[in-house]
Amino acid sequence: MPFARLGLKAELLRTVTAQNYVTPTPIQSQAIPAVLAGRDVLAGAQTGTGKTAAFALPVLQRLAADAAAGARRGRAPRALVLTPTRELAAQVGDSFVTYGAELTLSCGVIFGGVGIEPQKALLRRGVDILVATPGRLLDHADQRTVDLSAVEILVLDEADRMLDMGFIRDIRKVLRLLPRQRQNLLFSATYSDDIRRLAEDLLVDPAEIEVARRSSAAETVTQHVYRVEKEAKRDLLVHLIDEGNWYQVLVFTRTKHGANRLSEQLQRAGIEAAAIHGNKSQSARTRALAGFKDGALRVLVATDIAARGLDIDRLPHVVNYELPNVPEDYVHRIGRTGRAGESGSALSLVGRDEAGLLKDIERLLKRKVPELPMPAVVRHAPAPAATTEPAAPGGSRHRAAPRPAQGEAPAQPRKRRRSRGRGRRAAGGAT
Ligand code: AMP
Repeated sequence: MPFARLGLKAELLRTVTAQNYVTPTPIQSQAIPAVLAGRDVLAGAQTGTGKTAAFALPVLQRLAADAAAGARRGRAPRALVLTPTRELAAQVGDSFVTYGAELTLSCGVIFGGVGIEPQKALLRRGVDILVATPGRLLDHADQRTVDLSAVEILVLDEADRMLDMGFIRDIRKVLRLLPRQRQNLLFSATYSDDIRRLAEDLLVDPAEIEVARRSSAAETVTQHVYRVEKEAKRDLLVHLIDEGNWYQVLVFTRTKHGANRLSEQLQRAGIEAAAIHGNKSQSARTRALAGFKDGALRVLVATDIAARGLDIDRLPHVVNYELPNVPEDYVHRIGRTGRAGESGSALSLVGRDEAGLLKDIERLLKRKVPELPMPAVVRHAPAPAATTEPAAPGGSRHRAAPRPAQGEAPAQPRKRRRSRGRGRRAAGGAT
C-alpha cells in the first residue's frame, strides 16, 4: 500500500517522498491509520522497523489539524514523547523536524547531561511537540518550567528499555501531570509483564500492532561467530577491519571501561575510533556520533544502553566484541545494521567463557549462528584446525593484497578516510 492511501496530508507525503521512502513499512501501514483515527496504540516493534515515522507522521497530522497551531506563542506542548536515552530523544526530535518541514509546528528536545537553562528558554518560547527523557522532564516539572496540562498525545518510545533502565516511577510521575483525556501510544520491542501492566493502566481499547518480533533478527543481516580467546580478540578485530577495509563498524562491549580501553587500543593500532557510553559528556557523545556518521571515525565502540536508538544509515558492520548478558540485546545490537532492507554483517567474537551466552542467543533465534575459522595471521589464536584458508566475510586474509569489501573503493591509507556522503537527516532545529 502506498503512503498516499494512509490518509496523510500532502505536506507530509511530500516530506516522506523527499526522504526517498517509497512504501510504508508494516508498522507504518498499521499504526498511521490507527493514530489518525485517534485510537490508542500498543505497538510491538524494534528500532529499524520505521517505528519513529509510524508515530511522528500521524502525530504531526493530528496537531496540524488544529488551525490555531503554530499561531500561539508561549504554547505548552500538545504532544509529549518519552524516550529512554538522549540519543534516541535527539533522533526522534530530528525526525519530527524532518517530517514536519512543511508544517508550522515546532518540536523541542530536552534531556539530561546538558545545561538546563537553554531548555527553560525553549520551553518559555513554547513548543508543540516535546521529546524528553523522563528524568530531565521531571526536573523541569519540579522547577515548574514545563507545563504538561495541554498534552493531547503521549508517546512512550522504547518503553521496555525505559523500564529496564528503572524509569517506571518517573514515568508514573509524569503520567500524573498529564490531562486524563488524551491519546496514548506505547511502542515496545518486548512485552514483559511490567509492560503489559503499564499498557493496561495507560491504554484504552488500543489497536494492537505487532511486527517482526524481537527474537527474529532481520533477514538482511548475515551473522557469524569466531571462537576466539579473550587475549586474541583485539588482534582479530584489527585484522578484520584492516583486511576487510571496513570503513564503518559499530563494536559492542559489555562495560564502559571495556569500551574506553578498546577504543584506545584501536587508536594505538592506527584505527580512528571513539567510545560512546553513559559516562561520556553529551558533547563527547554527540561529537563521536557525528564523526562516525560522516566517516571521520571508522569505529564506534559502544555499550548497549548508549547504542540504543542510534540510527546510522547503511551501517555495514556490527561486531559483538563481547556477547551481551541478555540474549534480546544481541538482536537489538545486530539490528543496527541491515536496516530498512539494506544488507549488513554481524560478527560475534565469542570467548570460551561466553559459550553459554551464545547458546542462549541461538535458542532465542531458534537457529545456530555459523562459525568462521580464525584467520591464521592473528596472534594468540589457538592453532587452526584446518590448513585451508577461507576468507573472512568482506575481506581477504592476505595482508599483502587487501581487496575492496562490499563494493567499496580499494584500500586507502587509514588516516585519510573520506566521508561517504550518505544521505543525512535535516540538521538542527530540534532543540
Ligand atoms: P526507525 O525504526 O524509526 O529507527 O527507522 C529506521 C530507519 O528506517 C530510519 O533510517 C528511517 O529513516 C528509515 N525508514 C523509515 N521509514 C521508512 C520507509 N517507509 N522506507 C524506507 N526507509 C524508512
